[in-house]
Amino acid sequence: MRFASLGSGSQGNALIVDAGETRVLLDCGFSSREAAARLARLGMAPDELTAIVVTHEHGDHVGGVFAFARRHRLTVYLTHGTHAAAPRGSAPLPECRLIEGHTPFAIGSLQVQPFPVPHDAREPVQFAFSDGVRRLGVLTDTGTITPHIVDTLRVCDGLVLECNHDHALLAASRYPASLRRRIGGRFGHLENEQAAALLRQIDTGRLQHVLAAHLSQENNRPELAARALASALGCSEDWIGVADQDGGFDWRQLR
Ligand SMILES: [Zn+2]
Ligand SMILES: [Zn+2]
Repeated sequence: MRFASLGSGSQGNALIVDAGETRVLLDCGFSSREAAARLARLGMAPDELTAIVVTHEHGDHVGGVFAFARRHRLTVYLTHGTHAAAPRGSAPLPECRLIEGHTPFAIGSLQVQPFPVPHDAREPVQFAFSDGVRRLGVLTDTGTITPHIVDTLRVCDGLVLECNHDHALLAASRYPASLRRRIGGRFGHLENEQAAALLRQIDTGRLQHVLAAHLSQENNRPELAARALASALGCSEDWIGVADQDGGFDWRQLR
């Protein structure tokens, strides 16, 4: 199993999980053309994808999902709440499968385990993916770390973890107070130290890759996110990958 990011941050997110014959796109916050160009950069074409899985209805995650799914005839998996709240425009919806936030499901050879997260959306979830051997956890867009999140991500081989902001940079930012409160609140986004705290609560012995994701371009810096996660893991900062808005990150293999 391998995974890569097409881009990550408040301007758009998409991640691809490749289990050989099954290839799932997680969110698509980019236009169809942009998503295809970013896939091409990873050596993949849209018609090689099996399905799209969606976390929640915010534009940086769902913005390009329906158009891309229609164009490439992909089934979209999403919760009832995300389905109800997602902006859909006037074009007919692609085929959608409604999922429950606590019920694992299969797409081809991939086992997909959704888990609810506290975030200011209708019914947001995040996901862990497994090919039966390796397990990848993805956690972005959560305001706090719940015991259920810790349980779900307790044993993973790879982890993509939101490091949205640095507490001090957010406090000093030019954002209005209400926006700062929303981002830093219990239904907002994870701060570097909260992400590090998750790593201190899980079994990290099997982790082959840890990537910081969904970094704010205003209120964080890659080196701060890497430092926080490295200190929790007791590893070198170089070992931590950092996803960026334009480049995402290249393929990571789970062996
Ligand atoms: Zn987001
Ligand atoms: Zn969001």
